[in-house]
Amino acid sequence: MGSGQVTDSSVPFEFQGKHVTVAGLGVSGVPAAKVLHGLGARVTVVNDGADDRARAQAAELEALGITVRLGDGDTLPDGTELIVTAPGWKPTKPLFTAAGQAGVPVWGDVELAWRLRRPDSAPWLAVTGTNGKTTTVQMLASILEAAGLRTAAVGNIGVSLLDAVTGDEEYDVLAVELSSYQLHWAPSLRAHSAAVLNLAPDHLDWHGSMEAYAADKGRIYEGNRVACVYNVADKATEDLVREADVEEGCRAVGFTLGSPAPSQLGVVDGILVDRAFVENRHKNAQELAEVSDVNPPAPHNIGNALAAAALARAFGVPATAVRDGLRAFTPDAHRIAHVADVDGVAYVDDSKATNTHAAEASLAAYESIVWIAGGLAKGATFDELVAGAAKRLRGAVLIGADRALIREALARHAPEVPVVDLDRTDTGAMLQAVQEARRLARPGDTVLLAPACASMDMFTNYNKRGDAFAQAVRELGA
Ligand code: ADP
Repeated sequence: MGSGQVTDSSVPFEFQGKHVTVAGLGVSGVPAAKVLHGLGARVTVVNDGADDRARAQAAELEALGITVRLGDGDTLPDGTELIVTAPGWKPTKPLFTAAGQAGVPVWGDVELAWRLRRPDSAPWLAVTGTNGKTTTVQMLASILEAAGLRTAAVGNIGVSLLDAVTGDEEYDVLAVELSSYQLHWAPSLRAHSAAVLNLAPDHLDWHGSMEAYAADKGRIYEGNRVACVYNVADKATEDLVREADVEEGCRAVGFTLGSPAPSQLGVVDGILVDRAFVENRHKNAQELAEVSDVNPPAPHNIGNALAAAALARAFGVPATAVRDGLRAFTPDAHRIAHVADVDGVAYVDDSKATNTHAAEASLAAYESIVWIAGGLAKGATFDELVAGAAKRLRGAVLIGADRALIREALARHAPEVPVVDLDRTDTGAMLQAVQEARRLARPGDTVLLAPACASMDMFTNYNKRGDAFAQAVRELGA
């Protein structure tokens, strides 16, 4: 809905005097309203809430001459010719139903940035997927930098695409992280090359179904010019490539943790190799880097590195830059961060594993694990996750509101594994969880915080949860 109205991006949109409704204040809405106003559009901002923050933002925009309607994000303002929406707004909102009936196009923040970029501006190398987006985009930016290119990691990563395309800084190429919401609202986006890292059920309440979620992710491949990068181990990503309408000559390039076939990147004897962007790919392969150059060298992260490498190679980056860029990359906090070794046991913080798909990747990276898990399950089930990891679990310590769901899955699929169920959700519970984990662990084990759940029942966010874990580990060592 709404997004179906693909407006032709080859015709520049004339903003002067146009009635544009910006849906949602906030990180994308406020800058979008300012930019549109600056282009001569007659801007009305509509927002559901009317709290103090919204009032302050409204006052700032009103001072510029922008109309702001607080407390009613559902009614389409009279005369609206275009809606620019915050990506998180659900397609089923009455505002978009009304827009659909009135034939008003709806763009998200990414579509707006795409339309406003200068004709000669930097091409986009785009990344989406259920998990691994931020890491991959940062690895990609690091590789592009190592090749001497002027670049930035932008998009869903927290750096505004709008700033990147309308600002003064010149770029050769952009490494763009895109969420499924952003893709939903970006009908005319055409990347140079793009990757879908993986597809697991997520945000289904927003998209309505797995098919709709996959279709929105698949939009990233539309109109690609050089390469559509997919995950050989995740057939759904390859299916999306097949369904995409791409430019003549654009290639499907797979990445795999196994030995690569022609037109793939993969791993041979601990070496990352390229059999896609080489002369005579049926016979030749190009060595890119060693597995040990990837930080951390967990299997899913090697996949992220290969996807980043594929996009960089599609852009013509030399093999040495892939190696140098991967070596220079350090992951953001709370993503498989090694905190300390205490009594021969490694303590690893993957607080960012907020869903089961991420936790599954984390658990697959270690041989013998004491697993700290739990929090807000967001409707997830844990049977598959626990059944897959059962053999590697030394023990489990459960925290948080929905821990019973994990306890029951452990009872069904790993009845031998000792479980400590902490019946407390206060912040101090993490210290006790780490102490219990230490009791269960033996030298050589890994105590892994990979909660498979959101953190908001006990912490402000996953950062705070990871910080509490690290603090508790430091207290053990003290
Ligand atoms: P995103 O930006 O998609 O949320 P991140 O790079 O921030 O992804 O990683 C989030 C979490 O997902 C990590 O902490 C890790 O547990 C997990 N993860 C990272 N890469 C992958 C992958 N390729 N497959 C599965 N899980 C992954």
